[in-house]
Amino acid sequence: MNEKPEKLIDKKGLRLDGRKPDELRPIKLEVGVIPNADGSAYVEQGKNRIIVGVYGPREVHPKHLALQDRTVLKCRYHMAPFSVQERKSPAPSRREVELSKVIRGSLEPAIFMEYYPRTMIDVFIEILQADGGTRCAAITAASLALADSGIPMRELVVSCAAGKVDDTIVLDLMDEEDKLGSADVPIALMPNLNAITLLQMDGKLTSDEFESAVNLAIEGCKQISVMQKEALKAKYVGVKEEAEE
Ligand code: UDP
Repeated sequence: MNEKPEKLIDKKGLRLDGRKPDELRPIKLEVGVIPNADGSAYVEQGKNRIIVGVYGPREVHPKHLALQDRTVLKCRYHMAPFSVQERKSPAPSRREVELSKVIRGSLEPAIFMEYYPRTMIDVFIEILQADGGTRCAAITAASLALADSGIPMRELVVSCAAGKVDDTIVLDLMDEEDKLGSADVPIALMPNLNAITLLQMDGKLTSDEFESAVNLAIEGCKQISVMQKEALKAKYVGVKEEAEE
């Protein structure tokens, strides 16, 4: 294990990885990475590596879970045993069960669920490498994978966290900041509708600090939202070029 650093923010106001407080980690988004899935996406955010596959709308199993007036959205957030420093047991943990639920809740408001009664949509999220903020990166990628599958959505959901390390409000916490910092506020947003679909807080903040963290996370979401749209466009420009050849 690495030793605990004394300070998470140095004298110049820079973070452990050299970022300014309001700076995102480098992000790469790719759409259509699993040919057998109906929709898929891959995200790198800092050292996070996450792949998402969407399957459906398809028949519901077991049948009694089917709803007469809308589809059933199922999300599975799963961490590979090799994704973290200390091997993670392959059995589903309470944390994974909770994250699967909050991710589902953050995506559902964007989907026209009533278009596909008596069906289910499966969203499989595989964390290949974790570096803090995996729920947010997973939501950003899952929303892209859903759009890639062609399921009608009100808008893409985008997600990012802000928090407090030392005495500074910072954007997009990485693993050390997540673990050693004093608070973490992940949010998910539909930016055009101005609707927050996930808001959590871990740690302690004053109400002013909380407001600053939420506003900073919203700014981060807006920056990632531009990259999301570019990633989606990149796939379809590629498809168009192939068709024209
Ligand atoms: N983590 C870990 N082992 C675990 C679970 C999590 O090392 O079994 C790390 C991982 O880097 C993760 C971070 O702790 O990204 C923060 O986890 P948290 O529960 O806050 O969720 P996240 O910030 O990833 O959404």
